Amino acid sequence: MAMWTDLRPTVEMPRLFERGGDVISFAGGLPDLDVLPLETISGQLSRLVRLGGKLALQYTTPHVAKALIPAINDLMGREGSATTADHLVPTQGSQMGLMAVGLGIATPGETVLVQTPAYPGAAAAFRIAGLALHPAPEDADGLAPAALRETVLRLRADGRTVRLLYCNPTFQNPTGATLSVARRRELLAVARELDLLIIEDNPYGLLSFDGGTTTALHALDPERVIYLGTFSKVFAPGLRCGWIAAPEQLAPHLRRTTEVMSLSPSALAQAALAAFHTRAGWGDLLAAYRASYQERCALMADALDAELGTDGPWQWERPRGGFYIWLRHREGVDTVRFAEAAAEHGVSYVPGSHFGLDGEHADGLRLCFSNVPRKRIAEGVSRLAAALTAPVPS
Ligand code: PMP
Repeated sequence: MAMWTDLRPTVEMPRLFERGGDVISFAGGLPDLDVLPLETISGQLSRLVRLGGKLALQYTTPHVAKALIPAINDLMGREGSATTADHLVPTQGSQMGLMAVGLGIATPGETVLVQTPAYPGAAAAFRIAGLALHPAPEDADGLAPAALRETVLRLRADGRTVRLLYCNPTFQNPTGATLSVARRRELLAVARELDLLIIEDNPYGLLSFDGGTTTALHALDPERVIYLGTFSKVFAPGLRCGWIAAPEQLAPHLRRTTEVMSLSPSALAQAALAAFHTRAGWGDLLAAYRASYQERCALMADALDAELGTDGPWQWERPRGGFYIWLRHREGVDTVRFAEAAAEHGVSYVPGSHFGLDGEHADGLRLCFSNVPRKRIAEGVSRLAAALTAPVPS
């Protein structure tokens, strides 16, 4: 019997490095839910159940609820995009969107190009759908369109089917990097030339610290892009609500796949998000999230500057948004080797190899600042620095 036996760690791995007690975790990428207006949300949920219980608690169709579409367009519009019901597919978060693309659009055995270091849940979803993964070529400015063309042509000449490129172009998990608009245009030109579809995974795009946004790939060519949107980082992940904005001819395939995966999206979650947006819009909540992450990131980056300096073995860039700081060891040491010392010092991080397709990027490590109590950040960095500057175990 064929079975999916690739038990490479996915999102559970960080836990291995935590030892209960007084551990400061820079590992898990959780949002800071302290900014949520809980009274407002609970009032709206209770109203929805009282007044619309039968509908809100019933199965619904595998379509994005009409009332939610303006709320989605209010988010997508901030990065220059717009969408309509015919292009939209409901998901229970982008993780399900990744699975739906892997199962509903790709065919088993075909090769997906993946921007790396990559969110491990994406690689895991494509693998479980039976796809082969190949790293997309990059240079110092990110995804490299000319090299990408060569790679696709070479893979195709070798007999491989290559139609999909996965990327997380804005405040990338784990690097925090954002692809320039010029690069986005070049990438899309190659995608058109080679008939590729781009999967744009964009949970963090609206979480810049300065409130600025970068034009989404989807905005530049909605017919070439399968856009994965989610409410997990701009509202709350516990609602498990997201969407796919896909080229119109692909939407029915994706819809059917999501229907097989879960029958129906949550009517209650969709209604709650629509009600929240109708009443409050997204602006205040986005501003609160941005302010929280800007402050936490500054605390972490300042502490890293103070503890690790700029001329030691560790290098990193100050992110301009998102959840993560990506450290790299200049001499290429595998950062798994510091994990034991980090655990002993009471701090955790995610080693870079976790974000490679086959162990690459082992010289990196991801720190997440989004959910660490402000007053614990400096202490956590100081523990981390003690672990990272200890003699490297052989
Ligand atoms: N893509 C990326 C890049 C992520 O970082 C995450 C979650 N951390 C997801 C997808 C999945 O998120 P969700 O299913 O909650 O939308």
